[in-house]
Amino acid sequence: MSDNRIDRYTAKRQTMVERLVSARGITDEKVLNAMRTVPRHVFVDQALADRAYDDYAAPIGDGQTVSQPYMVGLLAQTAKIGKSDTVLEVGTGSGYTTAILATLAERVYTIERINSLSNRARKIFNRFYYKNIVCIVGDGSLGSAMYAPFDVIVVTAGAPRIPMPLARQLSEGGRMVIPVGEEKNQTLNLVIRDGNRFAVTRIEPCSFVPLLGKHGYEAKQVKY
Ligand code: SAM
Repeated sequence: MSDNRIDRYTAKRQTMVERLVSARGITDEKVLNAMRTVPRHVFVDQALADRAYDDYAAPIGDGQTVSQPYMVGLLAQTAKIGKSDTVLEVGTGSGYTTAILATLAERVYTIERINSLSNRARKIFNRFYYKNIVCIVGDGSLGSAMYAPFDVIVVTAGAPRIPMPLARQLSEGGRMVIPVGEEKNQTLNLVIRDGNRFAVTRIEPCSFVPLLGKHGYEAKQVKY
């Protein structure tokens, strides 16, 4: 991709951040700046690049979507990510949210169950020099015992309930942001670890594709 094409999208990106993210209540400047920087159009199919900055969850293949701009801002703001934080993301998808998290954190481990999506995202991370992202293929509802504990866990698929293996992989004071509810409509939950207790705050309604796997929905139950 030529630099010209990247420049062509800069204005669209600023407009997206002002109108679709900031104007709707996302105030964390670090999050807004990350969204002003990360080239969202490179994470969607080339045919949809012109619509990458629009107000919708663009399809990314395999029945999956890249989360709406506002929702990515809300996930990142709610998680209160610090520069030295280690983050686990469940649901790499296009890799766009991963790139935002990687701009804010020290390191991001991202798990995706669909091999082709993980490979596609990994190539984009390499091409754009995101050096602090580790891609994993597997069932993210189990988290990653190998890399735990995490200061922040961001789940970008809707779970039927809070997966306890994930909650237990939070460090002390760690935060998990996770949509919980029905297959199509959920509420974004913030889970904060305090010793062996987990304080849960409901943030706002949201709609993500289902989290599949051992602590999610069963694949055969779900229709995309
Ligand atoms: N954050 C992504 C982005 O910016 O493009 C959007 C993620 S999409 C809404 C949800 C993703 O979660 C899908 O790619 C889906 O395959 C993945 N997923 C669902 N269940 C999963 C599981 N148990 N483990 C890992 N990934 C899962």
